[in-house]
Amino acid sequence: MPEVIESTRAATRWITRIVPAFLVGAVSYATFVLVGRVCSTYLINKRREVGAAVVILVLYFILLLLMVATYLRTISTVFLDPGVVPLGPRLEARRKFEFESRRPGRRGTDFDSRIYQSGPDLDPDSPGLELFYTKDVFICENDGRPKWCSECCTWKADRVHHSSEINRCVFRMDHYCPWVGGMIGENSFKFFVQFTTYTASYCALVLGATASSLRKQISEGTPLDAHFIAAIALAAFFGLFTFLMTFTSMRYILFNMTNVDALSSRSKVYQLAVHVPRGTVSTDKFSVVTYPLPKLDEQLNGRSNGVVENGNGASGAGIESGVGSATRDDLATRTFAILKTEPGENPWNVGVWRNWQTVMGTNIFDWFLPVQRSPCATHESHESFYPMGHALADVLARYGLSGVAGKDSDKAGVEMKELGRGNGNLDGRA
Ligand SMILES: [Zn+2]
Repeated sequence: MPEVIESTRAATRWITRIVPAFLVGAVSYATFVLVGRVCSTYLINKRREVGAAVVILVLYFILLLLMVATYLRTISTVFLDPGVVPLGPRLEARRKFEFESRRPGRRGTDFDSRIYQSGPDLDPDSPGLELFYTKDVFICENDGRPKWCSECCTWKADRVHHSSEINRCVFRMDHYCPWVGGMIGENSFKFFVQFTTYTASYCALVLGATASSLRKQISEGTPLDAHFIAAIALAAFFGLFTFLMTFTSMRYILFNMTNVDALSSRSKVYQLAVHVPRGTVSTDKFSVVTYPLPKLDEQLNGRSNGVVENGNGASGAGIESGVGSATRDDLATRTFAILKTEPGENPWNVGVWRNWQTVMGTNIFDWFLPVQRSPCATHESHESFYPMGHALADVLARYGLSGVAGKDSDKAGVEMKELGRGNGNLDGRA
């Protein structure tokens, strides 16, 4: 039985249950007006315009079918497969601790609270960490570790955001949509856009056909059908709303953004950990971090004590300032330079055409039919969680790392091949 993800707010859950009934009512009414009043009673029986009525009816039922299919695909995805990040193993311990400390007569010490409430998992073998440093680029914090979600107790992959609405981290989170009753993220965004596109087209057809018939009634001087006016108002409202949603979503697709990205698209600075050849040292421009991070006892025994000193005065756990640290898994280590984008630079923008394909699919059937998920949801690349565009090359050039780092790095590639030959026991890290 798949886990059902719902809003944490009772009011939102109620709205989620009422909205589908409201939508069924609105569509049933539109069908009654367009099929019964406009096409059958007015165009066919009164005006004998059979051809026009048939064209309207065929278009109407095609759009209705596509609208219903994309709606069902969207709501089934947001409920059953919304693309949430699995909860971290430490969450169970934290919940147990919180439950225990709430029991009468039991109080956790401040120290215990700090362990469970704050900060990332400092264990160098923290579960899931290897998913980051086996890639060539990932988004990182100042200390070179990935971002951490203290609610889910898990590492946040690139473009993952925590939703307070469903209290879970979501891949490529976009927004919470009460109309489809859930979180629109990377798994459902394509179906959602198809749904708003077909709904806007459906509303445009109802609006156009009904308004045209109303105009004819006005010029004939016959009594106006009140249902026509009600259907026009309904179609105009939903049509405008879904058209704006479609327009905004298409813009996001073409520029490879989400609603979350758009909130700070002009000022956002991304911090990237970029794989560089082993032996690269920190400079006054950037720090380096080497994975696997030193074990806690190694940190205590002086392996840089987990702190870097560099020209910027930046420091952080696990960052080393030089080479030659003969520590565990030396041959399996991977070094990353910590680099920043310029404000507003979008590392995910891979060009309009590829941006479109990563969300909508590579063939025309995928664009129109709600069957296949977005290609970007597979996370198949070994280079990064999502393909990165020219912004990465620009960042590397600014730091003087072009040619030695990033996805076209020959040196880094050779380094990893040598590691593969030189050490049979890489624990799947390299
Ligand atoms: Zn989270």
